[in-house]
Amino acid sequence: MTTTIPGEPWSTGVARDGAGVASVAGVPVADLAAQHGTPAYVLDEGDLRGRASAYRRAFETAFAEIGAGVDVYYAGKAFLSLAVARWVHDEGLRVDTASGGELAIALRAGVPGAHIGLHGNNKSDDEIVTALDAGVGRIIVDSLVEIERVADLAGARGVVAPVMVRVTTGVHAGGHEYISTAHEDQKFGLSIAPTPAASEQVVAAAATSSDAGGDSPAMRGLLAVLARPELHLLGIHSHIGSQILDPSGFEVAARAVLELRAALAERTGVLVDEVDLGGGYGIAYLPGEVALDPDRIAKDVAASVAASAADVGTPLPRFSIEPGRAIVGPAGLTLYTVGTVKPVRIDDGRTRTYVSVDGGMSDNIRPALYGAAYHAEIVGRLSDAEPVLARVVGKHCESGDIVVHEVQLPGDVRAGDLLAVAATGAYGRSMASNYNQVPRPPVVAVRDGGSRVLIRRETIADLLALDEG
Ligand SMILES: *Cc1c(COP(=O)(O)O)cnc(C)c1O
Repeated sequence: MTTTIPGEPWSTGVARDGAGVASVAGVPVADLAAQHGTPAYVLDEGDLRGRASAYRRAFETAFAEIGAGVDVYYAGKAFLSLAVARWVHDEGLRVDTASGGELAIALRAGVPGAHIGLHGNNKSDDEIVTALDAGVGRIIVDSLVEIERVADLAGARGVVAPVMVRVTTGVHAGGHEYISTAHEDQKFGLSIAPTPAASEQVVAAAATSSDAGGDSPAMRGLLAVLARPELHLLGIHSHIGSQILDPSGFEVAARAVLELRAALAERTGVLVDEVDLGGGYGIAYLPGEVALDPDRIAKDVAASVAASAADVGTPLPRFSIEPGRAIVGPAGLTLYTVGTVKPVRIDDGRTRTYVSVDGGMSDNIRPALYGAAYHAEIVGRLSDAEPVLARVVGKHCESGDIVVHEVQLPGDVRAGDLLAVAATGAYGRSMASNYNQVPRPPVVAVRDGGSRVLIRRETIADLLALDEG
């Protein structure tokens, strides 16, 4: 048999009974399918809450040991709904948002403004104003122009905006690609690498003025914030990537940020209070993969920031981190019904069995977008048929509409089987589309033997309602 349930990459509440029927938190998948239909995103509330509190406790403990405070922000872009915002808030997390929509959900859920952050490389005036009016705890500014815009909007409203400056350290993790102090060819943040053009200008101008020529964009950003009384510079923010399984990227980036903080203090006398190390904590998607252990990574990161701070000779700031995927990813699975099953002869004489399900790239774009790998199992029954090489595909009009590139499924897989894909809680529903005018699936929460709908299934009527003719 090809079954791996229970255990990663499935949520902790997933089990199989003697007949091979899987259940989530005590609810058989057949009941979930009967009650809510398929496809459906199924979220294991206990698992999600457990991961949220595990991250918070691990980081609080490890950072307390080095004498620093830490806040854990849940990165809402991974998946946000009113219930999920409340769950993570209950578990002592704050919420990071990256758009007016995410901000609205966090606020509607009752998360205090002071415990919300607003990100984004191209925030609208509306988004900034909403954040200021809600009294968000931090606006993470992403460019020099945005610093002036936030200051102007705060000034017009007579408030002081708490901001962090997002910097890029040259560390790209997840891809294990460190180009420390190199310039970054991407849209986020302000680089800590000095701009050569500006350095040359300084030489040419023989440092005649007090302008910031030769400084890195990051330093210029920090100075620009300090220059505006409508802004309060909380600190420095660095997010290095996603699905990171090797902690060394966090360590390299943290050192760079602490050095920048010390350089700013030397220059201006201002030692900023906070440093955010971003998110990106990796999870298991496939059987045999091992997620980052929160206790272990928290200890490693705490030890390395303590060492870096000692080297640069500054007292420790308050830290924050922003896990998204690691909180919600493993808590979710997607339940599909199998339709067409088609054996296809592939080049080396082997046969690949194409198993079509009733969803696809509209509910999980990650395989098509990044080549992301997932694991699937037939979960409605046990089979002792020989496993076959299968590819799980969707119902959309693209051959790239692949849900699982390669997986062993029982050779008797057939129409009507329930198929579950593991670890779809993050960046599944949140990146879903209506491609082919397919209504988006519901999000169903399961807990203690019961289920409830968090986000209802879209209907054709919903789609028609948006069409003004
Ligand atoms: C995407 C993102 C996160 C969360 O990343 P995960 O991989 O889901 O943990 C956190 N912070 C920022 C700034 C992000 O862009």
